[in-house]
Amino acid sequence: MFLDEAIAEFVSGDGGSGAVSFHREKHVPRGGPNGADGGRGGDVVLIADRNRRTLYDFKLKPRYEAPQGKHAIGNKKGASGGGIEIKVPVGTTVTDLDLGELLVDLNVHGMKYVICRGGRGGRGNLHYVSSVRQVPNFAEKGAPGETVRARLELKLVADIGLIGLPNAGKSTLLSRISAARPKIGDYPFTTITPNLGVVSHAGETFVVADLPGLIEGASEGVGLGHQFLRHTERTKALVHLVDLFPIDESDPIANYRLIEGELQKYSSDIAARPRLLALNKIDLAPAGQYGERRERFEELGIPLFPISAATGEGLEALLFAMLDAIHKAEEDAPVQVIMPTLQRRDDQGEWDVKPHELGWELVGRRIRRMVAMTDLGNRDALRYLHRRFTRLGVIDKLREAGAKDGDTVIIGDYMFSFDDKV
Ligand code: GDP
Ligand code: MG
Repeated sequence: MFLDEAIAEFVSGDGGSGAVSFHREKHVPRGGPNGADGGRGGDVVLIADRNRRTLYDFKLKPRYEAPQGKHAIGNKKGASGGGIEIKVPVGTTVTDLDLGELLVDLNVHGMKYVICRGGRGGRGNLHYVSSVRQVPNFAEKGAPGETVRARLELKLVADIGLIGLPNAGKSTLLSRISAARPKIGDYPFTTITPNLGVVSHAGETFVVADLPGLIEGASEGVGLGHQFLRHTERTKALVHLVDLFPIDESDPIANYRLIEGELQKYSSDIAARPRLLALNKIDLAPAGQYGERRERFEELGIPLFPISAATGEGLEALLFAMLDAIHKAEEDAPVQVIMPTLQRRDDQGEWDVKPHELGWELVGRRIRRMVAMTDLGNRDALRYLHRRFTRLGVIDKLREAGAKDGDTVIIGDYMFSFDDKV
């Protein structure tokens, strides 16, 4: 199997902090609290797009970050960060590298997957009024965003197939236009194994397969049917490469017909794909012979591209024509159903108390988030956090585990001194 793969990091935005603010009215020294909430951080969303064909872009840019939510200012709510959408080829599988878990197979055009959710905005002090606390002088900080490191994998399928007699220059052409080669792994290279190359041109990428085995193998009766079909399944066009000046002085037109005839016999379905005709080795043209040979091909009424795979002449035009053929085929393809957005599973509510070399550790994303969202420099905010911990059973559990006043408790990046009497 030919795999394209890339490692990428996705980071969603932190939520903005809530504000501490009070109504201002004439003759009232300090009105009621009206601090607004911070904005939500942006999500990172992957979207399957059939106009993406390879993971090449992720090799150029392996990190994607969504904007943070804005902090609230007084009674004005912070703006949300706005999510980012990242296009991946249809058929991309996404594996979380830290969990070692397959997250999603984005196998339908339009399918969306929220790989990291933006952090919630912190609540303003307006939310912290209670019977015992009428003047809340603290607000909540925004929830941190998430970071996901993922491996993206894609089974490469050829967009363009190269056909032609042995020696026409297929391998030379492929190595000349390929910007990157996919990992071929330990797939044994034989003449019937198509050789894939990723081509990057005019800001797009596509896959070209050198299909050397077609004619050679077929005429020798090698059983290449499945192999070959699998790799040509999605080819949108074939480039037929003809050696204009074969060393054995055979007739290029006859050679062309030979291959087309074999292809027709082999698979009328594949033979029906659009064709580009590349007349190769023009650098070898003896004086006066190029025009004459070219004219005979013009009668076929197929788009002609005189090239030299060796010197690079004419390749630019051929590459644009390949892209055109791909676009045309994609426009003609039936529009697929748009799938609903899938959310990353959130099973992070669990927490626990564990012994730690310095004392105790509270583990669990929920607990870490509660701390991260607390303004720890504010005594009231700290007291509020303590009350939430009590309600959740955290304090009891620490006591049960054996925690004594003054013991150190680690939560995420923070260290606390355990003290039950706040
Ligand atoms: P394939 O069998 O179709 O894959 O053909 P190759 O790419 O292996 O090329 C066959 C021979 O033709 C090699 O010796 C190449 O160096 C040579 N060749 C390929 N393209 C050109 C070209 O544009 N000009 C010249 N002069 N030689 C070429
Ligand atoms: Mg070859």
